[in-house]
Amino acid sequence: MEAISEKAIRDSFVNCSKGEATRIRLPRDFADTAWGDLDFLGWTDPGAPLRALLVVPGDDGPLGVMLRRPEARRASALRSSMCRICLTGHASSGVTLFVAPLAGAAGRRGNSVGEYFCSDLACSLYLRGKRQPKMRLIRQEETLSLDERVDRAMTNLAAFTKRVRS
Ligand SMILES: [Zn+2]
Repeated sequence: MEAISEKAIRDSFVNCSKGEATRIRLPRDFADTAWGDLDFLGWTDPGAPLRALLVVPGDDGPLGVMLRRPEARRASALRSSMCRICLTGHASSGVTLFVAPLAGAAGRRGNSVGEYFCSDLACSLYLRGKRQPKMRLIRQEETLSLDERVDRAMTNLAAFTKRVRS
């Protein structure tokens, strides 16, 4: 993806107030972001560990979604699970159920959508083999090319952001 400025990121969030968007902290290493390795920017707010952010490039400019991660719970009985964006298989701690308030009035009334994503939101790096899941229990042979897997991930992500905005 192309580099995005801090201002464009703050202006991109569709499901939080302007005040909240102002208080979001960018990734600590934002200045060194390897944009060329990323299909979207995803990070945990360094000042608020239960808040995570996604910024997805698009024809109409970047689209930002604020996510909440649940409080840490006891390890689940799930032995492995799969990210719904990049379809990487992880041990249970490698995926997290993220919850996004819906955009607009529906979100202010408390409505939200949830989905399982890579806990570190580093789908782009898993797709490129630049990061490996810890203790991966399911090994899948992928016959698709990197471009095809990126297309699939971005389609999955677009379906999620559409639900947030609907
Ligand atoms: Zn993922």
